[in-house]
Amino acid sequence: MMNDRRPAGQVPAGSAGLCGRCRHVQIVRTGRGGQFFLCRLSFTDPRFPRYPPTPVLRCGGFSPVEPEGEEGGEEEVDGG
Ligand code: SF4
Repeated sequence: MMNDRRPAGQVPAGSAGLCGRCRHVQIVRTGRGGQFFLCRLSFTDPRFPRYPPTPVLRCGGFSPVEPEGEEGGEEEVDGG
């Protein structure tokens, strides 16, 4: 018997698609080991569902989390 029903938005770790590496996501963990991906853009923009159906493969609001220790910005150019 299949017994793999879970509420929309609840997924095992690592299968959230873009949400899994988006700066707008908030991971909500349940007491039973599940987790939800809460899109914080939904607080201010109704185009984004609070709990997007995962995996999210395309999203206009996606903004990747920058790796720690890497600052964007100035670039040293050795020329002359
Ligand atoms: S903006 Fe898109 S990719 Fe980012 S958390 Fe929200 S739904 Fe997921």
